[in-house]
Amino acid sequence: MKQLIVLLAVAISLKVTAQKQVVITIDDLISNGPFRDLAHIQQVNRQVLDTALKYDVPVIGFVNEGKLFREGEEQDRKQILKDWLEAGMDLGNHTYSHPSLYNTPLDDYKEEVLKGGIYTSSVLEDAGSKMRYFRHPYLNTGPDSTTRASFEAFLAAEGYTIAPVTVESSDYVFNKLYANAVLEGDTAEMKVVGETYVSHTLRMFDWMEAVADTVVGRAIPHTYLCHVNPLNANYLGAIYQGLIDKGYEFITLEKALEDEAYSKTDYHIGQWGVSWLYRWDKGNVQKWLMTEPAIDPEILRKYQE
Ligand SMILES: [Zn+2]
Repeated sequence: MKQLIVLLAVAISLKVTAQKQVVITIDDLISNGPFRDLAHIQQVNRQVLDTALKYDVPVIGFVNEGKLFREGEEQDRKQILKDWLEAGMDLGNHTYSHPSLYNTPLDDYKEEVLKGGIYTSSVLEDAGSKMRYFRHPYLNTGPDSTTRASFEAFLAAEGYTIAPVTVESSDYVFNKLYANAVLEGDTAEMKVVGETYVSHTLRMFDWMEAVADTVVGRAIPHTYLCHVNPLNANYLGAIYQGLIDKGYEFITLEKALEDEAYSKTDYHIGQWGVSWLYRWDKGNVQKWLMTEPAIDPEILRKYQE
């Protein structure tokens, strides 16, 4: 009997340590589009925050501050960032106007980081916090190793930690079709696109769990990247529920980055941003890209039209 209790205790503790973890990161605040009017942007952000609160998800949003400055709307647009902090979420820097480091001179890009963090830093400080994280637009970490090392030294000197990504599911592809369906009032198409997005995303989690087993040799806390858009306003809840059903708990970026997997070397240099799991597997980025789950061909066909 005593042995059985010991075995049960071990089994329970193993289950606890094997809890899957993920941090949800949402880029392109205050809007990834395509709708640009203030009322719509406010509604999308409100839905994203309400859903995060409902599922108790500590989301971090990455801001393009250039989107705050519109004639007559500046205060309302800035209020959206305050709403994020009031909801208990975190904010990070995603540059002022979303250039790629791949084809932007380094000095201009650094200026984009400095200019892009002014207001967000001030509201974070007002909320008793501070700016800590930087997310590269397009996940482009530089055109060559020299530029990259120089930029990363700049980030560190400015107090920024890079926000990596392990899972993304091309939500911008689905969002484009979803937004078209919204404009056409085609609720059946909205449902098909939304549900296909959710299933593709959950499949990408399964895939990246397997990739982590191969590349890192064990499970790691994942970092999911998506964007603040109408698709996610309506379907992040289904993704959160799907992740809960898979045994995930939602954690902060700070907690995820405590895992030493995130200090592995990123070997990837190139125009296109890819998962950090692929970057850690030197020489195998193409192999992984060729074998990862494809987007539903019908969705892809419509997107490419
Ligand atoms: Zn972005």
